Amino acid sequence: MMDNSKTRAIVVAAGRGTRFGRPYNKILHRMGGETILSRCLRALRKSGQFGGGIWCVTAPDETEKVKEELQKDGALSLVSAFVPGGDTRTQSVRHGLAALPHDTDIVAIHDAARCFVPETVVSACVLSARETGSGVPATPVTDTVKEAIDGRAFHTLDRSHLRCVQTPQTFRYDQIMRAYARFAGEATDDAAVYEREYGQVTLVELPECAENKKITHPSDDRDPGQAFRIGMGYDAHRLVEGRALILCGVNIPYEKGLLGHSDADVAVHALMDALLGAAGLGDIGKLFPDSDPAYKGISSIELLKRVCALLHAHGYRPGNCDVTIVAQRPKLMPYREEMARNLAAAMGADISQVSVKATTTEGMGFEGEGLGISASAVALIR
Ligand code: MG
Repeated sequence: MMDNSKTRAIVVAAGRGTRFGRPYNKILHRMGGETILSRCLRALRKSGQFGGGIWCVTAPDETEKVKEELQKDGALSLVSAFVPGGDTRTQSVRHGLAALPHDTDIVAIHDAARCFVPETVVSACVLSARETGSGVPATPVTDTVKEAIDGRAFHTLDRSHLRCVQTPQTFRYDQIMRAYARFAGEATDDAAVYEREYGQVTLVELPECAENKKITHPSDDRDPGQAFRIGMGYDAHRLVEGRALILCGVNIPYEKGLLGHSDADVAVHALMDALLGAAGLGDIGKLFPDSDPAYKGISSIELLKRVCALLHAHGYRPGNCDVTIVAQRPKLMPYREEMARNLAAAMGADISQVSVKATTTEGMGFEGEGLGISASAVALIR
């Protein structure tokens, strides 16, 4: 194993991320319960390359906030030191390089917004820097690129010679320090500074570079693990005389009905809990307490509409849901379609997104003995 105790990373996190369209720095945006910066630090740590530690360059007025957020994520200890950034990315990198211990042999300069960086890409860049002085991840250009002036194109570039470059841009520390010392201007990346001094950089072209996406625009806010969320719900109510039997909003002729504070629509209750569970928004007991007279006798379909409005307000849309009602009697088959239609209408969903099933327990248990009806549901949300 290579000695990596002098190999260090600089994470540049001092930008404002204005294109991301949020009032705060995008690196503090939470995706799947963790900030972009924490995710980025973990990705670098996971590569096992930076035995010398990770230095984080932050906007001076934001450092305390950044520390707080990393603390919440349990990621604060991944940072060896915080360095105040400058007015531009180039300035920030200068500050970061100057802050590193002088025995550093290899430095990887990485943008915090590339939080999905695969460990193979990090390792390949470090290895390339050890062997050639530099290692810069690159991908082929897939769109045709034209030279344009004032809305008109005059020239089509040969894209087989073009590459998009990413970070971590990785260098021998003494070489990149020398390149920056002899460079006075502003550059969009560190490879440009290195090229000016040494004429070239080594590109690291791995298929995995395709996963090394940068979070720039709001549409990039897609956590692969969180694109869909799933929830489940379960409920049971007692069957009694003198109550209407309402299931998925359908009034079903039967000698008994379900007992409850609302209309006791057990199937809709299970579905609402599945939806709320998927969104991590609690449950219906918390949302619509049965101690509140406002909900006495209320239609559960009405409550389902409110649950969907709440999900909507949190940025979620229903995917599909599947409800199973467990009842010995009455026969529910004839009502299945009307039930599904009611649920779809309340959710603002298409009928194809909703499934309602019914089963018996062959006489076993409270449902089988006709004491009550239970229902379970799973729901997927986007
Ligand atoms: Mg209930």
